[in-house]
Amino acid sequence: MIDSQTSLFGFVQEDFGRLLALLLLCGGLGWLLGFPWSGIILGLLVFLWLQWRALYQLYRWIRFYPNDLPPDLKGVWSALVYNIYRIQVSERRARENLISIMDRARASVSALDEAVVLIDRQCLLEWWNPAAERLLGFKAGDQGRNILNLIRSPEFARYFEQEQYGEGVKLASWVQAGRFLQCELTRFGQNDRIMVAYDITRLHNLEQMRKDFVANVSHELRTPLTVLSGYLETYLDLDDLNPRFRRGLSQMQQQARRMNNLVNDLLLLSRLENEGIRANRQIIDMPSLMSQLFADAEAYNADFGHSLHVDIDSHSNLLGAEQEIASALSNLVTNAIKYTPKGGTVSLRWWDDGKQGYFSVTDSGIGIDARHIPRLTERFYRVDSGRSRETGGTGLGLAIVKHVLMQHDAHLEISSTVGKGSTFTAVFPAERLVQD
Ligand code: ADP
Repeated sequence: MIDSQTSLFGFVQEDFGRLLALLLLCGGLGWLLGFPWSGIILGLLVFLWLQWRALYQLYRWIRFYPNDLPPDLKGVWSALVYNIYRIQVSERRARENLISIMDRARASVSALDEAVVLIDRQCLLEWWNPAAERLLGFKAGDQGRNILNLIRSPEFARYFEQEQYGEGVKLASWVQAGRFLQCELTRFGQNDRIMVAYDITRLHNLEQMRKDFVANVSHELRTPLTVLSGYLETYLDLDDLNPRFRRGLSQMQQQARRMNNLVNDLLLLSRLENEGIRANRQIIDMPSLMSQLFADAEAYNADFGHSLHVDIDSHSNLLGAEQEIASALSNLVTNAIKYTPKGGTVSLRWWDDGKQGYFSVTDSGIGIDARHIPRLTERFYRVDSGRSRETGGTGLGLAIVKHVLMQHDAHLEISSTVGKGSTFTAVFPAERLVQD
Protein backbone atom coordinates (compact mmCIF):
# COMPACT_ATOMS: atom_id res chain seq x y z
CA MET A 1 0.00 0.00 0.00
CA ILE A 2 2.67 2.49 1.06
CA ASP A 3 6.03 2.60 -0.55
CA SER A 4 8.43 4.36 1.79
CA GLN A 5 10.99 4.73 -0.97
CA THR A 6 8.79 7.02 -3.09
CA SER A 7 9.63 10.72 -2.68
CA LEU A 8 6.99 13.42 -2.14
CA PHE A 9 7.57 14.56 -5.73
CA GLY A 10 6.68 11.02 -6.90
CA PHE A 11 3.37 11.18 -5.00
CA VAL A 12 2.57 14.61 -6.47
CA GLN A 13 3.34 13.23 -9.92
CA GLU A 14 1.03 10.29 -9.24
CA ASP A 15 -1.79 12.68 -8.21
CA PHE A 16 -1.17 14.88 -11.21
CA GLY A 17 -1.35 11.83 -13.54
CA ARG A 18 -4.64 10.84 -11.93
CA LEU A 19 -6.06 14.38 -12.44
CA LEU A 20 -4.90 14.41 -16.06
CA ALA A 21 -6.46 11.02 -16.75
CA LEU A 22 -9.77 12.20 -15.25
CA LEU A 23 -9.76 15.41 -17.25
CA LEU A 24 -8.99 13.52 -20.46
CA LEU A 25 -11.68 10.96 -19.76
CA CYS A 26 -14.42 13.47 -18.78
CA GLY A 27 -13.30 16.07 -21.33
CA GLY A 28 -13.24 13.41 -24.11
CA LEU A 29 -16.70 12.18 -23.12
CA GLY A 30 -17.98 15.79 -23.04
CA TRP A 31 -16.42 16.48 -26.42
CA LEU A 32 -18.13 13.41 -27.89
CA LEU A 33 -21.46 14.64 -26.47
CA GLY A 34 -20.81 18.21 -27.61
CA PHE A 35 -20.08 19.74 -24.10
CA PRO A 36 -16.23 19.64 -23.76
CA TRP A 37 -16.06 22.32 -20.98
CA SER A 38 -18.79 20.68 -18.92
CA GLY A 39 -16.82 17.41 -19.18
CA ILE A 40 -13.65 19.12 -17.89
CA ILE A 41 -15.57 20.76 -14.99
CA LEU A 42 -17.08 17.38 -14.13
CA GLY A 43 -13.59 15.85 -14.16
CA LEU A 44 -12.39 18.59 -11.75
CA LEU A 45 -15.38 18.01 -9.46
CA VAL A 46 -14.74 14.25 -9.39
CA PHE A 47 -11.07 14.93 -8.50
CA LEU A 48 -12.15 17.32 -5.76
CA TRP A 49 -14.59 14.75 -4.43
CA LEU A 50 -11.84 12.12 -4.33
CA GLN A 51 -9.64 14.52 -2.26
CA TRP A 52 -12.48 15.23 0.20
CA ARG A 53 -13.15 11.50 0.54
CA ALA A 54 -9.47 10.83 1.34
CA LEU A 55 -9.45 13.68 3.87
CA TYR A 56 -12.57 12.30 5.53
CA GLN A 57 -11.10 8.75 5.70
CA LEU A 58 -7.93 10.16 7.26
CA TYR A 59 -9.94 12.15 9.82
CA ARG A 60 -12.12 9.11 10.68
CA TRP A 61 -9.03 6.94 11.23
CA ILE A 62 -7.22 9.44 13.46
CA ARG A 63 -10.34 10.41 15.42
CA PHE A 64 -12.11 7.06 15.90
CA TYR A 65 -9.81 4.16 15.02
CA PRO A 66 -6.24 5.26 15.81
CA ASN A 67 -5.27 1.72 16.85
CA ASP A 68 -6.40 0.13 13.51
CA LEU A 69 -4.34 -0.10 10.36
CA PRO A 70 -4.43 3.17 8.37
CA PRO A 71 -6.87 3.55 5.39
CA ASP A 72 -5.55 2.63 1.95
CA LEU A 73 -5.19 6.06 0.30
CA LYS A 74 -3.55 7.19 -2.91
CA GLY A 75 -0.95 9.79 -3.85
CA VAL A 76 0.07 12.52 -1.41
CA TRP A 77 -2.50 11.20 1.08
CA SER A 78 -0.71 7.84 1.28
CA ALA A 79 2.58 9.67 2.11
CA LEU A 80 0.77 11.60 4.86
CA VAL A 81 -0.87 8.47 6.27
CA TYR A 82 2.41 6.59 6.15
CA ASN A 83 4.26 9.24 8.21
CA ILE A 84 1.46 9.60 10.77
CA TYR A 85 1.36 5.83 11.14
CA ARG A 86 5.15 5.64 11.63
CA ILE A 87 5.09 8.30 14.39
CA GLN A 88 2.14 6.51 16.01
CA VAL A 89 3.94 3.16 16.04
CA SER A 90 7.15 4.58 17.53
CA GLU A 91 5.19 6.50 20.18
CA ARG A 92 3.26 3.39 21.09
CA ARG A 93 6.50 1.45 21.44
CA ALA A 94 8.06 4.15 23.64
CA ARG A 95 4.93 4.22 25.81
CA GLU A 96 4.89 0.45 26.21
CA ASN A 97 8.59 0.54 27.08
CA LEU A 98 8.00 3.23 29.71
CA ILE A 99 5.04 1.36 31.18
CA SER A 100 7.10 -1.81 31.44
CA ILE A 101 9.95 0.09 33.19
CA MET A 102 7.45 1.65 35.60
CA ASP A 103 5.83 -1.72 36.26
CA ARG A 104 9.22 -3.25 37.04
CA ALA A 105 10.18 -0.34 39.30
CA ARG A 106 6.85 -0.58 41.11
CA ALA A 107 7.14 -4.37 41.45
CA SER A 108 10.67 -4.10 42.87
CA VAL A 109 9.67 -1.37 45.35
CA SER A 110 6.66 -3.48 46.34
CA ALA A 111 8.95 -6.45 47.03
CA LEU A 112 11.09 -4.44 49.49
CA ASP A 113 11.00 -5.13 53.23
CA GLU A 114 11.38 -1.39 53.84
CA ALA A 115 8.32 0.83 53.72
CA VAL A 116 8.48 3.34 50.85
CA VAL A 117 5.99 6.23 50.89
CA LEU A 118 5.51 9.09 48.42
CA ILE A 119 4.24 12.34 49.95
CA ASP A 120 3.20 15.27 47.76
CA ARG A 121 4.06 18.93 48.34
CA GLN A 122 0.89 19.42 50.41
CA CYS A 123 2.07 16.68 52.78
CA LEU A 124 -0.63 14.32 51.47
CA LEU A 125 -0.07 10.60 51.03
CA GLU A 126 0.31 9.76 47.34
CA TRP A 127 1.55 6.18 47.09
CA TRP A 128 3.04 3.48 49.34
CA ASN A 129 4.24 -0.10 49.02
CA PRO A 130 2.80 -3.16 50.85
CA ALA A 131 5.58 -3.00 53.50
CA ALA A 132 4.25 0.44 54.51
CA GLU A 133 0.88 -1.16 55.33
CA ARG A 134 2.66 -3.73 57.52
CA LEU A 135 5.12 -1.37 59.25
CA LEU A 136 3.17 1.91 59.35
CA GLY A 137 -0.38 0.57 59.32
CA PHE A 138 -1.51 2.53 56.22
CA LYS A 139 -4.81 1.41 54.68
CA ALA A 140 -6.28 1.73 51.19
CA GLY A 141 -8.49 4.67 52.23
CA ASP A 142 -5.51 6.68 53.50
CA GLN A 143 -4.55 7.99 50.06
CA GLY A 144 -4.78 11.78 50.04
CA ARG A 145 -4.63 12.07 53.86
CA ASN A 146 -2.09 14.26 55.62
CA ILE A 147 0.97 12.24 56.70
CA LEU A 148 1.10 14.13 60.03
CA ASN A 149 -2.41 12.88 60.84
CA LEU A 150 -1.32 9.32 60.16
CA ILE A 151 2.02 9.38 61.98
CA ARG A 152 1.08 11.15 65.18
CA SER A 153 4.43 11.58 66.84
CA PRO A 154 5.89 14.94 67.94
CA GLU A 155 9.42 13.71 67.05
CA PHE A 156 8.27 12.83 63.54
CA ALA A 157 6.44 16.17 63.15
CA ARG A 158 9.61 18.03 64.23
CA TYR A 159 11.73 16.00 61.82
CA PHE A 160 9.21 16.41 58.98
CA GLU A 161 9.22 20.22 59.28
CA GLN A 162 13.02 20.46 58.99
CA GLU A 163 14.56 22.15 55.96
CA GLN A 164 17.39 19.61 55.65
CA TYR A 165 16.75 15.96 56.46
CA GLY A 166 19.79 14.50 58.18
CA GLU A 167 20.06 11.12 59.79
CA GLY A 168 16.37 10.32 60.13
CA VAL A 169 14.29 9.80 63.24
CA LYS A 170 13.79 6.78 65.48
CA LEU A 171 10.17 6.10 66.45
CA ALA A 172 8.45 3.57 68.67
CA SER A 173 6.07 1.54 66.50
CA TRP A 174 2.38 2.38 66.90
CA VAL A 175 1.38 -0.78 65.04
CA GLN A 176 3.20 -3.32 67.19
CA ALA A 177 4.23 -2.56 70.78
CA GLY A 178 7.92 -3.07 71.59
CA ARG A 179 9.14 -2.52 68.03
CA PHE A 180 11.13 0.45 66.74
CA LEU A 181 11.31 2.10 63.34
CA GLN A 182 13.82 4.36 61.65
CA CYS A 183 12.19 6.88 59.26
CA GLU A 184 14.23 8.81 56.71
CA LEU A 185 12.86 11.53 54.42
CA THR A 186 14.30 12.92 51.19
CA ARG A 187 12.96 15.82 49.12
CA PHE A 188 12.62 15.51 45.36
CA GLY A 189 10.88 17.28 42.47
CA GLN A 190 9.02 20.38 43.60
CA ASN A 191 9.04 19.83 47.34
CA ASP A 192 7.64 16.31 47.10
CA ARG A 193 9.03 13.86 49.62
CA ILE A 194 9.91 10.18 49.70
CA MET A 195 10.00 8.40 53.02
CA VAL A 196 11.78 5.12 53.73
CA ALA A 197 11.03 3.39 57.03
CA TYR A 198 12.53 0.17 58.36
CA ASP A 199 12.45 -1.98 61.47
CA ILE A 200 15.43 -1.39 63.80
CA THR A 201 14.12 -3.31 66.82
CA ARG A 202 17.14 -5.66 66.89
CA LEU A 203 19.59 -2.78 66.72
CA HIS A 204 17.65 -0.88 69.37
CA ASN A 205 17.66 -3.89 71.71
CA LEU A 206 21.40 -4.44 71.21
CA GLU A 207 22.06 -0.77 71.89
CA GLN A 208 19.89 -0.92 75.02
CA MET A 209 21.75 -4.04 76.17
CA ARG A 210 25.06 -2.21 75.72
CA LYS A 211 23.83 0.80 77.71
CA ASP A 212 22.44 -1.40 80.49
CA PHE A 213 25.63 -3.44 80.61
CA VAL A 214 27.86 -0.36 80.98
CA ALA A 215 25.53 1.16 83.57
CA ASN A 216 25.37 -2.10 85.60
CA VAL A 217 29.11 -2.76 85.49
CA SER A 218 29.89 0.82 86.51
CA HIS A 219 27.39 0.62 89.32
CA GLU A 220 28.72 -2.72 90.55
CA LEU A 221 32.31 -1.41 90.52
CA ARG A 222 31.43 1.52 92.74
CA THR A 223 31.23 -0.36 96.06
CA PRO A 224 34.47 -2.37 95.74
CA LEU A 225 36.26 0.79 94.64
CA THR A 226 35.00 2.73 97.63
CA VAL A 227 36.19 -0.05 99.96
CA LEU A 228 39.62 -0.20 98.26
CA SER A 229 40.08 3.57 98.31
CA GLY A 230 38.98 3.73 101.94
CA TYR A 231 41.51 1.12 103.12
CA LEU A 232 44.30 2.60 100.99
CA GLU A 233 43.69 6.00 102.51
CA THR A 234 43.69 4.54 106.02
CA TYR A 235 46.96 2.62 105.46
CA LEU A 236 48.66 5.64 103.90
CA ASP A 237 47.67 7.72 106.94
CA LEU A 238 49.40 5.27 109.32
CA ASP A 239 52.47 6.80 110.97
CA ASP A 240 54.19 3.45 111.35
CA LEU A 241 53.65 2.38 107.72
CA ASN A 242 56.61 0.41 106.45
CA PRO A 243 58.35 2.75 103.93
CA ARG A 244 58.76 -0.21 101.53
CA PHE A 245 54.95 -0.23 101.02
CA ARG A 246 54.36 3.51 100.83
CA ARG A 247 55.26 3.96 97.13
CA GLY A 248 53.19 0.96 96.01
CA LEU A 249 50.21 1.97 98.13
CA SER A 250 50.22 5.56 96.90
CA GLN A 251 50.33 4.34 93.29
CA MET A 252 47.39 2.06 94.06
CA GLN A 253 45.54 5.02 95.54
CA GLN A 254 46.23 7.10 92.42
CA GLN A 255 44.91 4.34 90.13
CA ALA A 256 41.90 3.79 92.37
CA ARG A 257 41.10 7.50 92.01
CA ARG A 258 41.38 7.22 88.22
CA MET A 259 39.05 4.22 88.22
CA ASN A 260 36.65 6.11 90.43
CA ASN A 261 36.64 9.05 87.98
CA LEU A 262 36.05 6.61 85.12
CA VAL A 263 33.15 4.92 86.88
CA ASN A 264 31.59 8.27 87.73
CA ASP A 265 31.92 9.50 84.13
CA LEU A 266 30.50 6.23 82.77
CA LEU A 267 27.55 6.43 85.14
CA LEU A 268 26.92 10.05 84.16
CA LEU A 269 27.03 9.13 80.46
CA SER A 270 24.62 6.23 81.01
CA ARG A 271 22.27 8.50 82.90
CA LEU A 272 22.38 11.09 80.10
CA GLU A 273 21.73 8.41 77.46
CA ASN A 274 19.02 6.48 79.27
CA GLU A 275 17.09 9.12 81.11
CA GLY A 276 18.13 12.38 79.50
CA ILE A 277 18.03 15.51 81.62
CA ARG A 278 14.81 16.34 83.39
CA ALA A 279 13.94 19.96 84.12
CA ASN A 280 16.34 21.29 81.53
CA ARG A 281 14.57 24.62 81.04
CA GLN A 282 15.60 26.54 84.14
CA ILE A 283 16.95 30.05 83.62
CA ILE A 284 20.73 29.91 84.02
CA ASP A 285 22.20 33.26 85.02
CA MET A 286 25.12 33.41 82.60
CA PRO A 287 27.19 36.22 84.21
CA SER A 288 27.15 34.32 87.50
CA LEU A 289 27.93 30.98 85.76
CA MET A 290 30.83 32.64 83.92
CA SER A 291 32.31 34.00 87.14
CA GLN A 292 31.93 30.60 88.80
CA LEU A 293 33.71 28.95 85.82
CA PHE A 294 36.42 31.59 86.00
CA ALA A 295 36.94 31.06 89.74
CA ASP A 296 37.20 27.26 89.25
CA ALA A 297 39.61 27.82 86.36
CA GLU A 298 41.80 30.03 88.52
CA ALA A 299 41.98 27.36 91.20
CA TYR A 300 42.82 24.62 88.66
CA ASN A 301 45.32 26.96 86.96
CA ALA A 302 47.50 27.21 90.07
CA ASP A 303 49.88 24.52 88.78
CA PHE A 304 49.95 25.84 85.20
CA GLY A 305 50.40 29.60 85.56
CA HIS A 306 48.40 30.50 82.43
CA SER A 307 46.96 33.95 81.96
CA LEU A 308 43.16 33.63 82.13
CA HIS A 309 40.59 35.99 80.58
CA VAL A 310 36.82 36.16 80.63
CA ASP A 311 34.48 38.15 78.35
CA ILE A 312 30.70 38.50 78.51
CA ASP A 313 29.30 40.14 75.36
CA SER A 314 25.67 39.16 75.67
CA HIS A 315 22.68 40.13 77.77
CA SER A 316 21.14 36.72 77.19
CA ASN A 317 20.79 33.99 79.75
CA LEU A 318 20.39 30.34 78.95
CA LEU A 319 17.44 27.96 79.38
CA GLY A 320 18.80 24.64 80.60
CA ALA A 321 19.88 22.37 83.42
CA GLU A 322 22.35 24.46 85.40
CA GLN A 323 24.34 21.66 86.99
CA GLU A 324 24.88 19.70 83.75
CA ILE A 325 25.67 22.82 81.70
CA ALA A 326 28.14 24.03 84.33
CA SER A 327 29.91 20.67 84.39
CA ALA A 328 30.06 20.43 80.56
CA LEU A 329 31.44 23.96 80.13
CA SER A 330 33.88 23.47 83.00
CA ASN A 331 35.13 20.34 81.21
CA LEU A 332 36.01 22.48 78.18
CA VAL A 333 37.82 24.95 80.45
CA THR A 334 39.88 22.31 82.30
CA ASN A 335 40.81 20.67 78.97
CA ALA A 336 42.03 24.05 77.68
CA ILE A 337 44.14 24.52 80.81
CA LYS A 338 45.59 21.01 80.88
CA TYR A 339 46.39 20.79 77.16
CA THR A 340 48.26 24.12 77.18
CA PRO A 341 51.95 24.18 78.12
CA LYS A 342 52.72 26.26 81.22
CA GLY A 343 52.50 30.04 80.86
CA GLY A 344 49.96 30.07 78.02
CA THR A 345 46.65 31.93 77.71
CA VAL A 346 43.09 30.65 78.10
CA SER A 347 40.06 32.87 77.33
CA LEU A 348 36.40 32.19 78.11
CA ARG A 349 33.71 34.07 76.23
CA TRP A 350 29.92 34.21 76.20
CA TRP A 351 28.24 36.13 73.36
CA ASP A 352 25.33 36.02 70.90
CA ASP A 353 24.66 37.25 67.37
CA GLY A 354 20.91 37.68 67.83
CA LYS A 355 20.28 34.21 66.43
CA GLN A 356 22.44 31.86 68.48
CA GLY A 357 24.32 31.96 71.77
CA TYR A 358 28.00 30.96 71.94
CA PHE A 359 30.21 29.86 74.82
CA SER A 360 33.82 29.49 73.70
CA VAL A 361 37.12 28.57 75.27
CA THR A 362 40.26 29.54 73.37
CA ASP A 363 43.68 28.33 74.41
CA SER A 364 47.23 28.80 73.13
CA GLY A 365 47.91 25.10 73.71
CA ILE A 366 49.23 22.09 71.82
CA GLY A 367 46.37 22.11 69.27
CA ILE A 368 44.82 19.12 67.52
CA ASP A 369 45.49 17.76 64.06
CA ALA A 370 42.43 18.18 61.77
CA ARG A 371 42.07 14.41 61.22
CA HIS A 372 41.34 13.85 64.96
CA ILE A 373 38.71 16.57 65.30
CA PRO A 374 35.66 14.64 63.98
CA ARG A 375 36.38 11.79 66.44
CA LEU A 376 37.15 13.78 69.59
CA THR A 377 33.67 13.37 71.10
CA GLU A 378 33.78 9.57 70.80
CA ARG A 379 34.16 7.72 74.08
CA PHE A 380 37.79 7.04 75.03
CA TYR A 381 39.12 8.77 71.94
CA ARG A 382 42.36 10.55 72.78
CA VAL A 383 44.86 12.21 70.48
CA ASP A 384 47.71 11.20 72.76
CA SER A 385 46.57 8.60 75.29
CA GLY A 386 49.84 8.79 77.30
CA ARG A 387 49.43 12.52 77.84
CA SER A 388 45.74 12.23 78.65
CA ARG A 389 46.42 9.56 81.28
CA GLU A 390 49.22 11.68 82.75
CA THR A 391 46.81 14.57 83.17
CA GLY A 392 44.28 12.28 84.85
CA GLY A 393 41.85 12.31 81.91
CA THR A 394 39.27 9.56 81.42
CA GLY A 395 38.73 10.11 77.70
CA LEU A 396 35.01 10.59 78.39
CA GLY A 397 34.91 14.34 79.02
CA LEU A 398 34.04 15.48 75.50
CA ALA A 399 31.55 12.59 75.06
CA ILE A 400 29.73 13.92 78.13
CA VAL A 401 29.91 17.50 76.78
CA LYS A 402 28.37 16.36 73.48
CA HIS A 403 25.50 14.56 75.24
CA VAL A 404 24.74 17.47 77.57
CA LEU A 405 24.74 19.89 74.61
CA MET A 406 22.51 17.57 72.56
CA GLN A 407 19.97 17.54 75.38
CA HIS A 408 19.95 21.35 75.09
CA ASP A 409 19.50 21.33 71.27
CA ALA A 410 23.05 22.69 71.10
CA HIS A 411 26.23 21.44 69.47
CA LEU A 412 30.00 21.67 69.80
CA GLU A 413 32.26 23.30 67.20
CA ILE A 414 36.01 22.75 67.33
CA SER A 415 38.72 24.63 65.46
CA SER A 416 42.39 24.05 66.12
CA THR A 417 45.90 24.43 64.76
CA VAL A 418 48.68 22.14 65.92
CA GLY A 419 51.19 24.07 68.02
CA LYS A 420 49.04 27.22 68.13
CA GLY A 421 45.95 26.33 70.10
CA SER A 422 42.28 25.43 69.93
CA THR A 423 38.83 26.96 70.27
CA PHE A 424 35.95 24.85 71.54
CA THR A 425 32.56 26.55 71.04
CA ALA A 426 29.21 25.40 72.41
CA VAL A 427 26.50 26.80 70.09
CA PHE A 428 23.00 27.26 71.57
CA PRO A 429 19.89 27.90 69.43
CA ALA A 430 17.79 31.08 69.84
CA GLU A 431 14.99 29.12 71.59
CA ARG A 432 17.42 28.49 74.45
CA LEU A 433 18.21 32.16 75.00
CA VAL A 434 16.27 34.48 77.31
CA GLN A 435 16.89 38.20 77.53
CA ASP A 436 18.05 39.62 80.81
P1 ADP B 1 40.44 13.47 78.38
O1 ADP B 1 39.88 12.99 79.64
O2 ADP B 1 41.46 12.54 77.79
O3 ADP B 1 40.86 14.89 78.43
P2 ADP B 1 38.30 14.39 76.69
O4 ADP B 1 37.13 13.64 76.14
O5 ADP B 1 38.04 15.57 77.56
O6 ADP B 1 39.22 13.32 77.38
O7 ADP B 1 39.17 14.87 75.45
C1 ADP B 1 39.47 13.95 74.41
C2 ADP B 1 40.81 14.28 73.78
O8 ADP B 1 40.71 15.51 73.09
C3 ADP B 1 41.91 14.48 74.77
O9 ADP B 1 42.52 13.26 75.11
C4 ADP B 1 42.86 15.40 74.04
O10 ADP B 1 43.72 14.64 73.22
C5 ADP B 1 41.93 16.20 73.12
N1 ADP B 1 41.67 17.56 73.65
C6 ADP B 1 40.58 17.98 74.32
N2 ADP B 1 40.64 19.29 74.57
C7 ADP B 1 41.80 19.74 74.04
C8 ADP B 1 42.45 21.03 73.96
N3 ADP B 1 41.89 22.12 74.49
N4 ADP B 1 43.63 21.09 73.31
C9 ADP B 1 44.18 19.99 72.77
N5 ADP B 1 43.64 18.76 72.82
C10 ADP B 1 42.45 18.63 73.43
